Amino acid sequence: MSAVLIVDDEEALAENVAEIVSGLGVDTAVARDRTSALAAAARRDFDVALIDVRLPDGDGISLLEPLRARSPYMQLVLVTGNATLEGAIAAVRGDAFAYVLKPVSPPDLLDTVRRALEQAGLYHERERLRVDLERSERRHRELVESMPAFVVALDGNGRITTWNRLLENVTGFGRAEMLGADGTALVAADGRPHDLPVKSGGVRKVRWSRAEVSGSGGEPLVYAVGIDVTGEEEMLRRTLRAERLAAVGTLAAGLAHEVRNPLNSATLQLAVLERRLERGEPPARAAPIVHTIKSEIDRLDRLVREFLAFAKPAPVDPRPLDVGELLGSVANLIGPEAEAARVALAIHAAPELPRASGDSERLRQVLLNLTRNALEAMQERGGHLTLRARREGDLLEVEVEDDGPGFPADLPVFDAFFTTKDQGTGLGLSLVHRIVADHGGTIRVASRPGRTCFTFTLPVARS
Ligand code: ADP
Ligand code: MG
Repeated sequence: MSAVLIVDDEEALAENVAEIVSGLGVDTAVARDRTSALAAAARRDFDVALIDVRLPDGDGISLLEPLRARSPYMQLVLVTGNATLEGAIAAVRGDAFAYVLKPVSPPDLLDTVRRALEQAGLYHERERLRVDLERSERRHRELVESMPAFVVALDGNGRITTWNRLLENVTGFGRAEMLGADGTALVAADGRPHDLPVKSGGVRKVRWSRAEVSGSGGEPLVYAVGIDVTGEEEMLRRTLRAERLAAVGTLAAGLAHEVRNPLNSATLQLAVLERRLERGEPPARAAPIVHTIKSEIDRLDRLVREFLAFAKPAPVDPRPLDVGELLGSVANLIGPEAEAARVALAIHAAPELPRASGDSERLRQVLLNLTRNALEAMQERGGHLTLRARREGDLLEVEVEDDGPGFPADLPVFDAFFTTKDQGTGLGLSLVHRIVADHGGTIRVASRPGRTCFTFTLPVARS
């Protein structure tokens, strides 16, 4: 409840005024002189004080300052027997809210006190808003400070205006030296980790996200939040290394297994050969065994060669490349094999095909592996083999299609060492996959009985 302090030494008058004013629904208190007025103001907050200019222990106007000091939104109304000059001056200076003349007219008095109460209410409200604002600012500051992330704010000129505690702690650069420095290069937010220099040397890797907002003058302000990913990168590197080691282990185990089969078979055949020679059998009896041994050794040789190509591929050396020409040269190479397998070859290269960016030697290897597989699949009954090239947006698509028996969708044909052939290595498609990926392309396959189609993409050459 609002409260009004009445300071007047004329007791009857003071009580009178108090009664009139309490009609406004406020608390009232009466003081007879300066001393007791100050004592009353020390005990509680008043919204309005009605002060007689002449008091037994001094001048009422001299109360304005100490009362104001105690409570900044208290409104002071002077009551004076005559329109003294000081009263008028004090009112005009703004120290007093108003002054009223004795004899006091109740309606005037009520009107003045009501306005003084309203004014005090406004001051209270403003004070409350100020406190709220301060609290929300403090909370905002605390949030920024205690955030487990780096927080930087930049003004319209890219100068640092916020540099939070975590940044101070981690970098060793204090706020004082960073505020006002150019921060644009520091918080580049392109999704990649950026170097954050550390005072004692070295850098942290930080990934930033930025929000751009307009300042009060429309200038672009930047807020950036950064996460320290130094440890993450190291972890990723370690995981990759572990994965690579595991992959090498798997490959080595696969290779050992694959090598053992032909070795076993060659050893057995050699034992048979040895026995026949000991028994003095004619050389003609040895020929088929020698032939088997030779083919097992060929298989071993192929295995080792393909494994090396797969495990330690030559780096790709991409150059602008005419894909139509490449398809032609592969068709020439496999022509005799196709004829022997009674397979008809066709090439469809779209007209005006742009050049691809690719390594012709390695892509020839891709096409040879794909076409050999197709020929091997169609060996029994002959068929059609079609090579296609066309443009798809900013990519080239190359297709190798056959009308052979196909394979079920869940066959892991791209897995290393997966093969359904007696003499197969199961490395052909792994290598194809790898080379296409090294070119930045992708490969997919669709297969059903009567149609198998491998499709891979290549980037179009720039120029
Ligand atoms: P390999 O030819 O040594 O078996 P690949 O990696 O080249 O090894 O092929 C793996 C397997 O995928 C083959 O054994 C075969 O079962 C299957 N495959 C590949 N291409 C075709 C195709 N065009 N038609 C049917 N099956 C295929
Ligand atoms: Mg193959």
